[in-house]
Amino acid sequence: MKEILEQNTALQHLAGEMAEVAGYLWQRGWAERNAGNISVNISDLFQDEIPETSAYTSIDLSMAYPKLAGCSFLVTCTGKRMRDLARNPSQNAVIIKMNESGSRYQLIPLKADADTCLPTSELPTHLGIHQMIAERGSDEKVVMHTHTNELVALTHAKEFCNREELNRLLWSMHPETAIFVPEGVGFVPYTVPGSESIAAETTRTLHNHDVAIWEKHGVFAIGKEISATFDLIDILAKSARIYFMCRSANIEPGRFLDAELVELKLLSLKF
Ligand code: 13P
Ligand code: ZN
Repeated sequence: MKEILEQNTALQHLAGEMAEVAGYLWQRGWAERNAGNISVNISDLFQDEIPETSAYTSIDLSMAYPKLAGCSFLVTCTGKRMRDLARNPSQNAVIIKMNESGSRYQLIPLKADADTCLPTSELPTHLGIHQMIAERGSDEKVVMHTHTNELVALTHAKEFCNREELNRLLWSMHPETAIFVPEGVGFVPYTVPGSESIAAETTRTLHNHDVAIWEKHGVFAIGKEISATFDLIDILAKSARIYFMCRSANIEPGRFLDAELVELKLLSLKF
């Protein structure tokens, strides 16, 4: 087994960024126990030839992802804590390298002495989203899932369990939300986590949005970089927090006019 991390400085840097953001997720209170997972498409920075006959464990997927054939991903491991990942990424994340048909992957530890760890139970959703990104040819590399209290709380109100009302509310709380999330969020009704049906619904939703909110569970977001993907979720969480702060102070939250929202969304083109 090779010391993958020691030999690849770009990967070291990325694992460091993943660890830093894992710490933020924990500090925000969004990562109880093993909550949340992150995957990053590292195909352009991990090009090691790994023969199918190598000693690495090989695992069959329940469906094939042909657009991801030969791709590699840095993925958080199932059952691991974000707060542990923050201190020690090599024991809490792993590389998966897809085979030539995208139907199976090899499990490649970041360090030769790392304990065996399997990728997140939400892998079907992560791979479904990465495949959608590959199909449309855009350059997002990161898929992030976390249990954002503020956004989960909103989905306990039936009135916000639809895309229109959710976005109207989130855009209305402070200008940054319309500037940095101009397409708004998608909404995924409650479904069993880890299932192929939630993977399909989330993938469909993220075709038109950078963020999907899972009813009573959390958030899935995509982005070009790990930090920027966290920022998207952070901005949305702030909107939801402002809403609840107003409500608990008995203040009726205001709204931006449609014309003001258009003006703000135009600003997003500058960033
Ligand atoms: P994993 O530990 O398998 O990544 O699961 C965490 C989670 O948030 C499931 O939705
Ligand atoms: Zn979850």
